[in-house]
Amino acid sequence: MKNEKFDVVVIGAGVGGPAAGAILAEKEGMKVLVLEKASRVGGRDISFNFRDESSETYKKAISEAASTWFFKSEPDLPELFSQGYLNGYAFEAGIHTLMVSEKGRTNTLLSYLGKPLTLYPAVSAGWWHDGELYRFEGGSERGGNFPWMDDRDRAECGRINSAMVRMSAEEAHSYDHVSLTEWMDARTDNANTKEFHYVNATMNCTINDPANISAGDNILMNRAVARAGKRFSYGGCSTPGLPGFVQIPMSLCDVIEKNGGKVVTGARVKEVLIEDGKVKGVLVDMQGSVEKVECPIVINSGLVNEMFRYIPEKHFPYTFVNRVKGFWRAGIGAVYFALDRQIVKEHVTFTPKVAGKEDGFDCDIRMGFWDSSGMDPARAPAGKQLLDAYVSLTDKEAHNRELVSLAYDRMMAFMTDNYPGFKESLEWTLYTVSDSLVPVAQAPFQVGDARPRAKCPFVEGLYHASDSSECSMAANDAAIHAGIIAAGRVSKKDYVSEILPDYSRD
Ligand SMILES: Cc1cc2nc3c(=O)[nH]c(=O)nc-3n(C[C@H](O)[C@H](O)[C@H](O)COP(=O)(O)OP(=O)(O)OC[C@H]3O[C@@H](n4cnc5c(N)ncnc54)[C@H](O)[C@@H]3O)c2cc1C
Repeated sequence: MKNEKFDVVVIGAGVGGPAAGAILAEKEGMKVLVLEKASRVGGRDISFNFRDESSETYKKAISEAASTWFFKSEPDLPELFSQGYLNGYAFEAGIHTLMVSEKGRTNTLLSYLGKPLTLYPAVSAGWWHDGELYRFEGGSERGGNFPWMDDRDRAECGRINSAMVRMSAEEAHSYDHVSLTEWMDARTDNANTKEFHYVNATMNCTINDPANISAGDNILMNRAVARAGKRFSYGGCSTPGLPGFVQIPMSLCDVIEKNGGKVVTGARVKEVLIEDGKVKGVLVDMQGSVEKVECPIVINSGLVNEMFRYIPEKHFPYTFVNRVKGFWRAGIGAVYFALDRQIVKEHVTFTPKVAGKEDGFDCDIRMGFWDSSGMDPARAPAGKQLLDAYVSLTDKEAHNRELVSLAYDRMMAFMTDNYPGFKESLEWTLYTVSDSLVPVAQAPFQVGDARPRAKCPFVEGLYHASDSSECSMAANDAAIHAGIIAAGRVSKKDYVSEILPDYSRD
């Protein structure tokens, strides 16, 4: 890198930075350098092909770039790997499904760049209510067709749904800093409508407590799914074919390299060099040897809450530094259940409650699970079932071993109590925890204009592109949004309108 000149340096080979880099490389002819501190490309989007892993490389990979750690397994982790339990299985660092399937932002951008994904959409869904499982298929829940509701509930739920779907993006953003509870309380007192929307919002935003969910960001998500013609049992989400989620950052990095750029792993940015309020380049630690790369444009896609580890905070106003350091994160407890036959019949299932305040949580803890091998049969050996299950946890809860353990006991109890044959069919389990599925939780005062802008107003030449900077909605699609916005700010072109359909632009 020493004598090479680059137009743009991207910090991090996850999604947001490489999305911006790929657009700038492909459409603007810019030479892009991506620097990644971990030993592989992917960030939080890493996937595993277990033939090439040991228990130690797996633990290292999930912790070094995916903010995820191993919690427990049955049998224990070395045995899971050495005895071949994982052979023929493929999964991710956590649960990985893409919103809105082929019409979501991720596949839309990858298609624009000539790299569309193969996607396996969820086309059946289960919804637990009062101890009963309700099954939906092919969008049969359309129009609020929820059997547990009476006519009054259905009418009320339909009224709230259509208010969300018909809302302008501008109006939705006016509720960015309003909690979902407050928004809902002002509009209905119908308990079943509230329960439906609160469970849905937990699955959208990875936050259990509706008082901590931004009404505006959640409305934008529901609106995008419905306007794209999707439902939870009809392509509301999908899983990408193998190698899995990691192909998203890999495809973006391919585009960068195909256009003369470079992607370097094992390269930790120690410092962004700033003089007189302008970016001059970066200092990179390449396994002990430090190199200086000069460049006037740096796109930061590391977690914004951690940016002051390598961007000196003296260049930013005190209020901005405090705000960024104070953001709280949304994490998860992610569990993989491997069964010797198909026990769960639905692709995606939501449960209203597995634990609650009485157990020490802030509110009801809901569970979601995906029949990932039912969606993509290549994810498990023939005849077996791989279920990816999760509960949302705040960052604080994620670090509380007792609470996590209790949540995991409840998840297992729910499955064994409600799915006959589950216990007997279980071949292995693996439990992991992440404190940063969404590093800046989609909470009131943490979304919309509260986030660092794509073009930093304090340092010339510094841009942010990650799921925790300027963007809307959640996770991977949010990171893609941020990347498109940043590419537009660097090039002064409107890539958001050029690439995205109207329901996912704002
Ligand atoms: C357990 C888990 C489950 C998830 N499930 C889903 C899901 O189901 N659906 C979904 O859409 N999304 C999901 N996500 C979120 C999704 O993975 C992220 O939204 C997406 O990866 C964000 O991309 P990003 O570019 O913002 O950040 P990241 O992917 O975190 O990439 C940032 C990169 O920057 C690198 N970096 C940081 N600092 C430096 C430095 N100083 N020098 C060099 N490199 C640096 C990091 O190593 C990392 O590779 C999940 C995430 C986790 C952790």
